[in-house]
Formats: sequence, C-alpha cells, structure tokens
Amino acid sequence: MKKIGILGSTGSIGTQTLEIVRNYKEDIEVTALAAGSSAAALEAQIREFHPKTAVLFDEAAAKDLRERVKDMDVTVLAGMEGLLEIASMDAVDALVTAVVGMIGVRPTLAAIEHGKDILLANKETLVTAGHLLMPLAKEKGVAILPVDSEHSAIFQSLNGEKRSQIKKILLTASGGPFRGKKREELSGMRAEDALKHPNWSMGRKITIDSATLVNKGLEVMEAKWLFDVNLDQIQVVVQPQSIIHSMVEYVDGGVIAQLGLPDMKLPIQYALFYPDRRPMPGPSLDFYELQKITFEKPDTETFRGLALAFDAMRAGGSMPTVYNAANEKAVGMFLAHQITFLQIPEIIEMCMQRHTVIPHPGVEQILETESWTYDLIKKVIS
Ligand code: MG
Repeated sequence: MKKIGILGSTGSIGTQTLEIVRNYKEDIEVTALAAGSSAAALEAQIREFHPKTAVLFDEAAAKDLRERVKDMDVTVLAGMEGLLEIASMDAVDALVTAVVGMIGVRPTLAAIEHGKDILLANKETLVTAGHLLMPLAKEKGVAILPVDSEHSAIFQSLNGEKRSQIKKILLTASGGPFRGKKREELSGMRAEDALKHPNWSMGRKITIDSATLVNKGLEVMEAKWLFDVNLDQIQVVVQPQSIIHSMVEYVDGGVIAQLGLPDMKLPIQYALFYPDRRPMPGPSLDFYELQKITFEKPDTETFRGLALAFDAMRAGGSMPTVYNAANEKAVGMFLAHQITFLQIPEIIEMCMQRHTVIPHPGVEQILETESWTYDLIKKVIS
C-alpha cells in the first residue's frame, strides 16, 4: 500500500489524482490532503478518503473546516506550517505537489529532505529552485516523477535508454488558444478568450500561461533540470492536436515519442504506479479517427514569453525566479482585468531587465527575489 499526500487536492491535478485513487483504493492510501481555502471541497474529500491530516492554507478557512469535520478522526492544520507538516509526516511515502506557484518551493524541498518521492506537478518549484532540488533529491535517493504531460512523455521516452545518448528533447506545445494570431489581434484579448483552451482542461493560471506560451517557457526550464540537458538541446515544436506529448531524439537520429489523448490522468497515473502501467478506463487514441498530426515552429516574435524563458535560463541564478514571479503577478492582474494580454510578457521583460542576478540563490534569496519582483511591479504599474 502506497501512502500519498496531495498538496493542492481541490485543484485540477489534485481532483484528477483522487479520481485515479478511487479506482485503485486497494493500492493507494491518501494520508494527507492540502488545499488553499475551499473548506467545503476539502471536507468532501476528507469524508471520502479519510486522510490523517488535512491542511487549508487560509487560516480562517481552516478554522471553518475544523468545525465541519469535528466528527472525524483527522487533524486540521493551516498555513505553511501545515504544508511543511505534511511534507515531513511518516505516514506519507510520496507527495503529489499540485499547488500553483512558488508556494510549493518550501514543502517540496522539505519532503525531499524527509525522503519522500515527489510526483511533481508544481513546475514553479523546479523553475525557481531546480538547482537546489535536483542535487538534494540525488543525495537523499528520492525519485522526482514528472506529472506534467510533456515531461512524463519525455520520461517515458527515456525508459531503457542512456541519458548520455540524448541528442535533443523535442518538447511539444499545443500553441494555446491564440495560435496563429499576430500582435494586433492579441491586444484586445480578454481573460475570457484566453481561458478557452482548445485541447486541455486545466486551472486558470496555467491556461493563461498556455496562451502566452509562458507555460512552455516554464516547461523548457523544467525539462532542463529534470533531464540534465543543455538549453540548446531543447527544441519546442508546436503540435496543435496535442497527441504527441513530447519526444526524445537520440545521437543516432532515432526519435522516440509518447502519444495519447490529451488527458492528464495518464501522466498522473504513470507517476503514481511507476514503473508499472495500470489499465485506464475511458477512450484511447484512435488513429483512423485522428488521421493526421501536424507540426509548426513556435512564433516567438508574437509570443515573447517563450523567448524570455530561454533568456532567463541563460542568465541563470535568480533570473528564472524573476521570470516566474513576474508572470504570476502579471497573470493575476490580467485575470482581474487590470492589464492587457500583451502586457504580460512586457512586465516579465521589464522585471528581468532591472534585476541583478544572484548566482545560486538559497531558498530565502529565492523568496526575497519573488518579493522584490512583486514590489517592482507594484511600483511601476499603478
Ligand atoms: Mg504541460
């Protein structure tokens, strides 16, 4: 019986993880759940999955939850302290990190410190603290299992191969809801337009990131850390049908790809049972129906977010944190209709230009860089 904790259990990845657990209750026990502020949703999960510990990040919501589940045998905690408790619990073997944003940095590092395997869906942690996370995972003998569909595909395409024989990683992208549009057409786009993703159903923040191609930028950084390749070994390929989830080209020119329907349940389930595969209910890929898969070069002139990610990664140190924090803030402002769509990459670029890189930042410096970025945006935009 594998015991798992889920950070971000009421979000898109969290609820899909629980859907899989529902099919495999004899193999997986959910011992800890954490969410942001949805007391009612977390209460329902507690009643179904009976975790030992539940956390709501929001203090007031945690108080409400404590009242709601007082008939149950569960400890309700709040805040970062609660997340860190889950990260260090003996009753957790593997932690699914499905929170959105840099809030995942400290609990993920704590969980690795305590020897928990990580099912990583919180890409911001790898982007900002990959230089701390990967060596620590190696030192502690902890597995980092990617849950992001592209990275799961790369991980699957690496099975049985030697990493030293990778020529390049072909990271696929759907191109998002605005693929093919030019700058003039994008200037008036509103959050509602960007939230209509053609293939994937995801949370709000990642859907906007997908429209700006910042999501792909974050995934380039993620891939660099996870698979220990150079930036020039990562090529982004637009594959609008989202059937090829990524590919690896080897030194002999052979390319191995992983294909499937665009459904996050496969990468989640693969990470949960790795190295085993389990049956998955529901439809699978029908090639007669599909007929064709097409490819394009990403338009990095229009979608500056992707080019800026390569710049941030090349600058290294604290620069990816600036890229990520500026994006988090800008997306929040865009969703609140405070800035335009094209201002998102402009804000990221402005922050990067004004930042002096801290080489090899520690956790405190990463979090300080996040605050510095937020303060800068507040000062400049308002
Ligand atoms: Mg992805």
